[in-house]
Amino acid sequence: MNERDSESIHSFLQASGFDMVDNETSADVIILNTCSVRELAELKALGKLGYLARRNIVLCVLGCMAKNLAEEIKKRVPGVDIILGPGDYSKIGDYIEDIISGRRTFIIDVDSPGAENNLDMDSMHNVTQRQSSAFVSIMSGCNMRCSYCIVPKTRGTERYRAMEDIILEINKLADNGIKEVTLLGQIVNRYGFRQIEQKDGKSAFVQLLEKIHEVPGIKRIRFTSPHPVGFHRDLIDCYKNLPKLCSQVHLPAQSGSNRILKAMRRAYNRDDFIKIVQALRDTVPSISVSTDLIVGFPGENDDDFSETCSLFDEARFDMAFIFKYSDRRGTVAASMPDQVPRDVKEYRNAVLLKKLATHSKAYNDKMLNTLQMVLVEGKARRGENIFQGRANNHRKVLFPGDDLDVGEFVDVRITSSAVTTLYGEKI
Ligand code: SF4
Repeated sequence: MNERDSESIHSFLQASGFDMVDNETSADVIILNTCSVRELAELKALGKLGYLARRNIVLCVLGCMAKNLAEEIKKRVPGVDIILGPGDYSKIGDYIEDIISGRRTFIIDVDSPGAENNLDMDSMHNVTQRQSSAFVSIMSGCNMRCSYCIVPKTRGTERYRAMEDIILEINKLADNGIKEVTLLGQIVNRYGFRQIEQKDGKSAFVQLLEKIHEVPGIKRIRFTSPHPVGFHRDLIDCYKNLPKLCSQVHLPAQSGSNRILKAMRRAYNRDDFIKIVQALRDTVPSISVSTDLIVGFPGENDDDFSETCSLFDEARFDMAFIFKYSDRRGTVAASMPDQVPRDVKEYRNAVLLKKLATHSKAYNDKMLNTLQMVLVEGKARRGENIFQGRANNHRKVLFPGDDLDVGEFVDVRITSSAVTTLYGEKI
């Protein structure tokens, strides 16, 4: 989501007459678009700000940390000129002009009244020749109250974009050569919840997927991240009924222990989760299933962790983002007793990473000798005339080729596999 926001910020600045430079040493203005999901991200950003503040530049902090730690940033890094929270980045160009012209010496805007409703920024794109796919924000904020999460505080309550605006934006992207869109939302499958009526038993999100499916130039559709709550039959059926919907799902589990899921306020249990994965596999047997997991949530004991390990095996996650629980001030979990020691978190993290490597390789091995339609992303970072692209299930594929265009689809036979990458030959 931050990547997408950075694209919007780039577009706003370009519209205000600013140019992007290749490296930060030649920049007159530097914007740090920050994340507050984990403490480490905030510490890194603070360190970077301290380093940049020594230079004679306009220094801006945007994103969730601007909202979450505005006063602390102001106190700890006096060289910062602009602190702007998420929600209304369209003002950034004017704010920078104000600082450059000397009209204002410092700007802090983390609670602007219009920010909650301003989703216009989401349609700003800056499509380049080197791009075959694009992110599309369809909503912002979150109404859930997971006990460990800072997002509802920093991003506010759920707001949904109008369906026709999203379709218009995707049509424009297709006109600019984009072949694949990834729909974004904190809980993407809650899109339009209680605002857009169900039609023929189909949720607003499913209705949106069907409409996007009709956009001629778009060949692939992905979305992230859905919540297991609300992942109903109508959405599972999309994997059968909408050929452009890719055979890949990212479904955050967070834990395999019912006790911990309850403490996390996740509103589903392990069985519910497994049933969704099973229904998806019944529909698309080769589907790639990835997840998010937190290890070391307060009170997580060895038995709870074993449950997470067994869920990992049962759900056969072939990709996962594994997080060591990081306590976020202002969340319910931060004041829970039985915080788990750091070394235990490290150990559990390492156990799951090892499991992930085994599962990922096993999944890739099953793709050996298959023919995959690969969307070309460009030249690979290493190797002469080696190209990189994505299979339908989002696996990275490297293969030799000449004169291939970004956004082209090529048939590649998979000849070998590693943990995260597949190798093949163009047919
Ligand atoms: S659903 Fe996701 S964004 Fe919303 S509170 Fe829970 S973890 Fe945070």
